[in-house]
Parts: sequence; C-alpha cells; structure tokens
Amino acid sequence: MMTRIVVVGGGFAGINLIKGLAGKKGIEVVLVDKNNYHFFPPLLYQVATAFIEPSNITYPFRKMFQGKQNVRFYNGTLLSVDEEEKQIITDSGRLNYDFLVLAMGTETNFYGLETLKTKALPIKTIEDALYLRNHLLMNMEKAVKTTNPQERAKLLNLVIAGGGPTGVELAGMAGEMSKSIFRKDYPELGEAAGNIYLVGSGDKLLGPMSKQAQQESYKQLFKLGIQIKLGVAVQDYMNDEVILSNGEKISTCSLIWASGVVAANVNGLPDESRGRGGRLKVDEYNSILGIDSIFAIGDICCQTTDKHYPEGHPQLAQVAIQQGKLLAANLVNLTDNKRMKPFTYVNKGSMAIITKYHAVVDLPFGSFKGYFAWLTWLFVHIIPIAGFRNKAKLAYNWIWSFLTNDPNLRLIIRAKKDL
Ligand SMILES: Cc1cc2nc3c(=O)[nH]c(=O)nc-3n(C[C@H](O)[C@H](O)[C@H](O)COP(=O)(O)OP(=O)(O)OC[C@H]3O[C@@H](n4cnc5c(N)ncnc54)[C@H](O)[C@@H]3O)c2cc1C
Repeated sequence: MMTRIVVVGGGFAGINLIKGLAGKKGIEVVLVDKNNYHFFPPLLYQVATAFIEPSNITYPFRKMFQGKQNVRFYNGTLLSVDEEEKQIITDSGRLNYDFLVLAMGTETNFYGLETLKTKALPIKTIEDALYLRNHLLMNMEKAVKTTNPQERAKLLNLVIAGGGPTGVELAGMAGEMSKSIFRKDYPELGEAAGNIYLVGSGDKLLGPMSKQAQQESYKQLFKLGIQIKLGVAVQDYMNDEVILSNGEKISTCSLIWASGVVAANVNGLPDESRGRGGRLKVDEYNSILGIDSIFAIGDICCQTTDKHYPEGHPQLAQVAIQQGKLLAANLVNLTDNKRMKPFTYVNKGSMAIITKYHAVVDLPFGSFKGYFAWLTWLFVHIIPIAGFRNKAKLAYNWIWSFLTNDPNLRLIIRAKKDL
C-alpha cells in the first residue's frame, strides 16, 4: 500500500518537502500548483525593473522532478478541501489524499481598500512583475509623446508603498535605473524626470532589521534622490492621485503595492483554524490544530510553539525551507510509525540590497553594510535559485547589468489577450 501525500504549492516550503520525500519507499507524492513552475520571489523586483530575465528565477516543476519515480505534478488551483472524503477539489478535478500538505504561501493584502485592489500594482508573482515592467516602460513611451508637463510628471512619478525589504530594494533599483539608463534611452525627455516616492507607515525603513540596516537604507536611498515618507500610510488611489494619511496627494500613474500579505485562502477548513493574517494555526509538527492528516508549512501557517517565536515565525524563505525539510522527515517517520520531531527555526539572518554596490546584512552574530554586504547578498541569493543553468545565467546577467549599467531587457511584451 502506498501512502499518498498531496502537496499544494511548490514554493520554497513545498519543493523542499518534496525533495525530502522523493525516492522514499511506500510514499507517492502529488504536487499541485496553479503554475507549472517554481519561482524565486526575492528577485521579482529585478524582473519588474527589467534588470534580469523572468527565466532566471523560474524553473518548471516537471523538469525539477524528472526521474523521481514517486513524484507527480498536477497543474491546478486548489478551490477547497473535503476533510471527510479526504479529497481536495481543484479547478480541474478532485484528488484523494492520505496526508495533505498546504503550502500555498500568501497573497497581496490590500487591507480591504477596493480602489487599491483594482488600480495599484502588486509585486507577488511573475505575472505581476512582467505586468509592472510593461506598465513602467509603456508610461515612459507615453511620457515621451505628451507635451503637457503635468501629464508627463504623472507618467514619470512612481510611488512605492511599503518600507520593508521589497519596497526598499525596488526604490533603490528604480532610482539607479532612472539615473543611469533613462536619460540614455529617452533623450526626448531631456532633464524632465519623475520623482520616486517610498511611503512607509512605520517610522523606519526595513522595520524588522537592525538599527544600522535601517539607518543605512535611509541614507543610501536619500542620496539617490528617493523621496522617503515615513509614518504615513497610503489611504486611497483615485484619478491618478495617491492620497496619503496626512492628506498629501501625489500625482502618479504608477502606485506599486509592496505593503502587506495575507495567507492564501483555503475553503473547507473551519474558521477556528485561522489565526493572525489568516494564517493556519499549526502545532509543533506543522499539523493544523484540530484537523486530522492535514499539515501546513511556510508562509501560510502560524506556529507559536517555537519558544523564540511565540507570535509565529516571520514569513521568510528560510522558515519555509526548514519547515519543508523537517516535515519530509516527519512524514517518513509517521508512515514508519516512528516519532516526529518538533520544529525549531534556525535564524540564519536577513539582508537587503539598497543600491548598486550597497547592501545591509544582519547575521545572528552581527551586522555589516556596504560593498562586502552587497557581495554577500549576491552570493546568498544565487544559491537557492533552482538549476545550475539558471544560476550561471543569473550570475552572467548580474555581471553584465551591474558593470554596464545598461541591461538590454527593456522589452514591452504583452500577451495577445492584453493587447
Ligand atoms: C517580492 C517578495 C520579496 C521577498 N523577499 C524575500 C527575501 O529577500 N528574503 C526572504 O527570506 N523572504 C523574502 N520573501 C518572502 C518569501 O518569498 C516567502 O517567505 C516564501 O516564498 C514562502 O514560501 P512558501 O513556500 O510558503 O510560499 P510561496 O513561495 O509563496 O509559494 C506558494 C506556491 O503555492 C502556489 N499556490 C498558491 N495558491 C495556490 C492555489 N490556490 N492552488 C495551487 N497552487 C497555489 C503558488 O503558485 C506558489 O508556487 C519575499 C516575498 C516577496 C513576495
């Protein structure tokens, strides 16, 4: 008898779980994902700013698990869970499971602001990043054509909501590109340049990082000319105007939303299984509280049993990777009637790139910044990229783009239905 483990979501948590289950006797694994590829969210902002290619940070699941006899891929979107029948319902059929693992991560949170949901530009998926790239490049083309200075300013202004790592990295990259590339690519614009605004509701940039990282990010972005607005929230966005909580209005055609996430929705589970941010409450083995045979790992879950993280772990790649690996070992133990091990997160640190040659790194034993931090960031971000060819291509793209200040990826490519 084979034990059938269905894993929904092939992000960091899901693929590390499956790698640990591949080749295990008596276990059959089915990965369900709405995309047919794994991708690397920390570098989405570089795709959105046309600095690297989307193929550098994506990898097809079927290729990833080629030759793994007990792993199958099923392309579909989870719609709901039928606990009684031990089945999941997807947009393309039902699947039976003995154990179900939910690893669908998070979705963009617009905090119920409907106008933001329809008009702001999220940065959560490859589609978001490509849409954003097209949007920014198309606005540049429109700005070249208009003779109205207000209209031109509106097209060139960029507002980024969110003072966390994604907002900071995006602002830094956009600032660098506007300094080095746009004048060369768009000579028609002359000295006309838009402003880049970084808006954060906290009183510091990079809130969860060290004081040194917070100060350095502020200093470097300020030097680059980014207009930093802290302690204010984006309240609304209408008629091409971003309205801030202090009453200020910014005229722009581009509001990028890097401001928050909420756990992916799962229908069919009791409301009590949801905690803060919609996260599924799990025990120390990542089993959803009060539910039999269903586990949750990565960003979608909230585990409060780890003594250093009583409010739950931060929603970071390392947490997802470590939970995926441990659950693989635990599921093997469970099928062998052996004891499972409780999860404890090993914090390996956090980092953010701010501008070219400048990053900040917080490690458990200390913090550092500047060029060496930037090199560390590049090194650390290339390791988890799936596939050797992708790593090599990314390294080449980075070297080319950083040295020349002029990557050649600024292409407006829209799917036919978008035209
Ligand atoms: C822009 C950005 C930058 C980030 N930068 C960093 C960083 O620098 N460092 C860091 O540690 N963390 C960073 N993070 C957070 C990190 O990416 C997450 O913590 C990590 O991806 C969580 O892994 P996961 O496997 O839980 O979910 P994800 O990686 O989000 O994977 C979820 C998977 O589930 C699939 N899925 C979702 N819904 C469904 C459904 N209904 N049906 C089927 N499949 C579904 C998705 O296609 C995806 O493959 C960043 C996140 C973003 C968005």
